[in-house]
Amino acid sequence: MGAARDARGCRAGHCRGMASIIVLLELEPSTEVLDAGEVDVGARVRWVHAAPGDPDVPGDPGPRTFCGLDTLPLEQERYRPSGPGEPWYPPQHRSRRCGDCDAALRSS
Ligand SMILES: [Zn+2]
Repeated sequence: MGAARDARGCRAGHCRGMASIIVLLELEPSTEVLDAGEVDVGARVRWVHAAPGDPDVPGDPGPRTFCGLDTLPLEQERYRPSGPGEPWYPPQHRSRRCGDCDAALRSS
């Protein structure tokens, strides 16, 4: 039933699973002090999310994270899992990983 529709609607690369995961940081709301100059961004991370890569724009996230957030206000993190079995989140932000994104990535 749904197979034919899915095959047509799927753009190249979009359905190839974990090929491209973009790690995104949700930061604490900025303050006037922190915005003034050089800041340790890591200290402001509230949650670490992940989004599927945009199939049309390599290296950019799609419009939504795995937990359904808009990716536009999120900060892109350069971290990429170095291989299968590696965590999708940067190790230093382990305690801040988003549970919903984590569950979505584990189940796929
Ligand atoms: Zn999330």
